[in-house]
Amino acid sequence: MNDIREVEAVVIGAGQAGLSSAYHLRRTGFEPGRDFVVLDHSPGPGGAWQFRWPSLTYGKVHGMHALPGMELTEADPARPSSEVITEYFDRYERAFDLRVRRPVDVRAVREGTGGRLLVETSDGDWSARALINATGTWDRPFWPRYPGQETFRGRQLHTAQYPGPEAFAGLRVVVVGGGASGTQHLLEIAPLAAETTWVTRRPPVWREGPFDEEAGRAAVALVEERVRQGLPPRSVVSVTGLPLNDAIRQGLADGVLDRQPMFDRITPDGVAWADGRQVSADVILWATGFRPAVEHLAPLRLRERGGGIRVEGTRAVADPRVHLVGYGPSASTVGANRAGRAAVRDIRRLLEEEPVAA
Ligand SMILES: Cc1cc2nc3c(=O)[nH]c(=O)nc-3n(C[C@H](O)[C@H](O)[C@H](O)COP(=O)(O)OP(=O)(O)OC[C@H]3O[C@@H](n4cnc5c(N)ncnc54)[C@H](O)[C@@H]3O)c2cc1C
Repeated sequence: MNDIREVEAVVIGAGQAGLSSAYHLRRTGFEPGRDFVVLDHSPGPGGAWQFRWPSLTYGKVHGMHALPGMELTEADPARPSSEVITEYFDRYERAFDLRVRRPVDVRAVREGTGGRLLVETSDGDWSARALINATGTWDRPFWPRYPGQETFRGRQLHTAQYPGPEAFAGLRVVVVGGGASGTQHLLEIAPLAAETTWVTRRPPVWREGPFDEEAGRAAVALVEERVRQGLPPRSVVSVTGLPLNDAIRQGLADGVLDRQPMFDRITPDGVAWADGRQVSADVILWATGFRPAVEHLAPLRLRERGGGIRVEGTRAVADPRVHLVGYGPSASTVGANRAGRAAVRDIRRLLEEEPVAA
């Protein structure tokens, strides 16, 4: 028999966005375990950070904001961010007694009875009056399709599987993608690889000088406008450009970051352009980003024609019980913090206004 457990709110995901939301739910008087639950399908604390490659040290992440209510102090910049942040999230969950349930995979969220949402999971069902979806993007790596892709005899992998630079020693590597991950992969791999080639769809946009708050706000506003229109969100980095730091300058000077336009097809031995040029490769590394992991929300039919979920603040326009935190404009550590607080404020108002169904 499947007993449905009832809570006021379910939080899906225990990354920055889910933990920030859980913290604010607690602060507002919701009791973990009784009034809300946090469900996460990863094996341990850390959200997506637990899966990031070892050479992504804490010193290399650009602007990790601490979770609300507890600073991340004295972290060694030389240690992998996967370790530093996982330990910090673990401490955080304990300090605020957030009682994250894991590994629990949320398979579907659908309309329940009495105006409630039914959350179906690998560990039974939950019924909730409100939902905070904080599932990030790591679980949905985006692989573009190119003609001939299936004929390639070498290895293809995505940033989500990047094992660190040693795996590419002595190999000819094509890196696809003009974001922060692509450039970081190239700078790490180039000294060990036999040859690297960098291809991007659009020429990279380098950002000179410091990234001040005003520029940050303008970038977030652009992504916000997209989700308000129901378009799929773009990453905040895609609108801010890439910072010209010392490592990037060096990569440009050395020719490691000599960007080529996107190839037109993949051959058994490499990649080829329409003008006849070819590059041989042992590996194609797709640093082509991620998409929001929201398939489990499909039964609620939140998606617009444009392919995205229309969101006002954090609230899904099509269903005010559903909040998306860490989605679109709040897909950064600082954005997720703010969005968690805003979602909880809104949910509290909703629950106070709506009479509890008998
Ligand atoms: C390589 C890389 C580096 C980055 N560096 C920075 C940086 O330096 N600074 C910054 O601000 N941002 C950075 N970002 C963006 C950053 O990761 C996020 O802003 C933030 O950490 C995301 O937090 P989140 O809680 O939204 O998602 P996540 O950390 O991905 O957490 C989502 C959680 O939801 C769980 N989940 C997903 N689907 C389900 C399901 N169906 N059922 C149950 N659980 C589920 C996952 O297991 C995961 O634990 C980086 C991103 C990448 C890819």
